[in-house]
Amino acid sequence: MGCEKNYTSRRHFGFAIITAIAFVLPFIKINDSHFFLLSFDKSKLHLLFTQFDMQELYLMPFLFIILFLFIFFLTTLGGRVWCGWSCPQTIFRSVYRDLIQTKILKIYKNIKDKQKQQDVSVFKRALSVIIWACLSVLIASNFLWYFVPPQDFFAYLSDWTNHKVLVGFLACITLWLVFDVCFLKENFCVYVCPYARIQSTMFDNDTIQVLYNEERGGKIYDKGTKLWKKPQIEGAQCTGCEACVKICPTHIDIRKGMQLECINCLECSDACSKVMAKFNFPSLIEWTSENAQKTHQKVKYFRFRTIAYVAILSVASVVLVLMSGKKEHMLLNINRTSELYNITKDKNVENSYTFLFQNTDSKKHTYYFDTNDTNIKIVRPSEPIEVKPNHKQRVIVILGSKNLNLNDQKDMPITIKINAYAVDEKEKISVDRETVFVYPKKQNLN
Ligand code: SF4
Ligand code: SF4
Repeated sequence: MGCEKNYTSRRHFGFAIITAIAFVLPFIKINDSHFFLLSFDKSKLHLLFTQFDMQELYLMPFLFIILFLFIFFLTTLGGRVWCGWSCPQTIFRSVYRDLIQTKILKIYKNIKDKQKQQDVSVFKRALSVIIWACLSVLIASNFLWYFVPPQDFFAYLSDWTNHKVLVGFLACITLWLVFDVCFLKENFCVYVCPYARIQSTMFDNDTIQVLYNEERGGKIYDKGTKLWKKPQIEGAQCTGCEACVKICPTHIDIRKGMQLECINCLECSDACSKVMAKFNFPSLIEWTSENAQKTHQKVKYFRFRTIAYVAILSVASVVLVLMSGKKEHMLLNINRTSELYNITKDKNVENSYTFLFQNTDSKKHTYYFDTNDTNIKIVRPSEPIEVKPNHKQRVIVILGSKNLNLNDQKDMPITIKINAYAVDEKEKISVDRETVFVYPKKQNLN
């Protein structure tokens, strides 16, 4: 009995942790920032409790590169470990089929047989869909909290007539979840999910997969054709009980070999483990690599491909950290007004601009600025500008110059540098922008 493994309870424990994290995370805020929030209505990305303006989305490509690299790395190393252990589709199907349909409503005979439904009333079947539909509203809300933070989400829902887009999204996601989990089922994994289609291209002979041990159990299939239920081979351990087949949520027989439908849930391995434990053998369905099974060696985790992925991932992560460290705590956009220049009575040449200060920091700041041209003075504003955290402030700026080294023939635009800074934290918060100051031609001044 010592050989009996239980991947299923470990997976269920993992599902509980992932679900708890997914539900709690949107409620956690540090310095008014979320772990992850992509807010379209406020044009903000919150990442790792830091807020980024949409203008700072230069980080997004790095995030996508890291995400894809991580998926490649994980798939090369552990096969479809994501599908079996953390994919929301797998979690939802386990809750619906194993908990609601089997344990609560007894629509399936027992948890070990996912192939045959009992002859139960239409009422019970409808009830299972209704229960899941209620849970789907909660799951859809949870999903939307990563785009609309919970406090806004509930406020918008209570004023739903003014937030019909949000209500529409909530309804569509809920309906999709009901259709997907109750009717599409594992067909989603087989026919819809793009990851299922491409993952096998990332496999090599050292990738961990769910594999039937033909050497111990005996050959059941030959080139896809079933030879027998129980192998008629001397010493073959497979009893032909087909507990592994009955329990499979995607309705396959893993003894046929690795198949696209297999989501690596390892329920077949657990089922066989219970059967084999009676003979004091380990499960005939192993979570191992082809090479490890053939050579009776341990799985080779450190190989060229996995090491290369780790190296590239490390470089991309370091770049991401360095780039996010360069986050600008203020943003400044400068636009010239349509008027080229204005000449005052005392022959001061003035150029007007609109400065848009944006405080992307988590606290209030006052901003002011200098120009690099000592001939140009700030006429307006005379006082620093106060901007609340995560707010913008538009300011009319007038720069003036009396240095009238003018051209006889034409107006003279010169490029000037504006250094804007937070008066209270000049060292940390400072940005440079370029703009143009136009001097009139001599005859205009006269
Ligand atoms: S559960 Fe194990 S012993 Fe039973 S049929 Fe499957 S592989 Fe053979
Ligand atoms: S063969 Fe079926 S039960 Fe076994 S891991 Fe694959 S999907 Fe799960």
